[in-house]
Amino acid sequence: MGDVTRFAPSPTGYLHLGHAASAIFAARSAGGDGRFLLRVEDIDQTRARPEYIEAIYHDLAWLGLTWEMPVRVQSAHFNDYQAVLDRLTDRDLLYPCFCTRKDIQAEIARIGNAPHGPDGALYPGTCRHLSAAECHDRIAAGESYALRLDMGRAMTQAGRRLYWHDRAAGRQVATPEIFGDVVLARKDTPTSYHVSVTLDDHLQEISLVTRGEDLFFASHLHRLLQELLGYAVPEYHHHKLLTGPDGKRFAKRDKSETLQSMRKAGVSVADVLARIGSF
Ligand code: GLU
Repeated sequence: MGDVTRFAPSPTGYLHLGHAASAIFAARSAGGDGRFLLRVEDIDQTRARPEYIEAIYHDLAWLGLTWEMPVRVQSAHFNDYQAVLDRLTDRDLLYPCFCTRKDIQAEIARIGNAPHGPDGALYPGTCRHLSAAECHDRIAAGESYALRLDMGRAMTQAGRRLYWHDRAAGRQVATPEIFGDVVLARKDTPTSYHVSVTLDDHLQEISLVTRGEDLFFASHLHRLLQELLGYAVPEYHHHKLLTGPDGKRFAKRDKSETLQSMRKAGVSVADVLARIGSF
């Protein structure tokens, strides 16, 4: 049996060669008898744009990829992500955090030295112990807040050491505590990458999550969420990131290297595949 894999771009810019490499990697990893899915990760409605979604379909078809229909477009499923957040709230695992970025920086400066995780300094826990009454009043007064995972409680509820298997890096002990009390939802984006990707990989029965090694650490957190939510654990394959001739990885800001611009300039698919190489 082949694997069920997915390519899950965020439509916040045009795809570049690095995306092409990642999409082809995912499609090839499914193998002949596997299934390859495409998912549009557009939860950030301030940055996602319809023309980028259209370009994703166009660019991937141009590369010769085919995927199952219908495509899951995350912005159509905010209710599903809310239901996950509600489950975590019911278990007392989330708390509202009213801190601004400035508040957090000030608190970190005050305490002197904050441990760092994959996304920078860990949240110092300022709002973790606010009373329910205070939270209620501040929310009722319209104050903006994010929902954070109480990592200590979450680890206690998980109750055992967690593992996941990476096809490139081998068996991993999950260490989600490196994220501290991570934000799982915000006012303007009422979910997060971590919640939506974990739920969707579960709902879509993804057996092999392939993605770039820049997202390696996120898998530690996703493994914890899977445990808390009772989901099956997929395997992972974090692949190397394709780099340009200058040794730098491709980024959405490098407008000249988009697949769309190559397509329009008459670059052949064979040339694109050659640039990606064996990867
Ligand atoms: N949407 C994410 C991105 O474009 C990738 C998500 C994933 O593969 O887990 O970076």
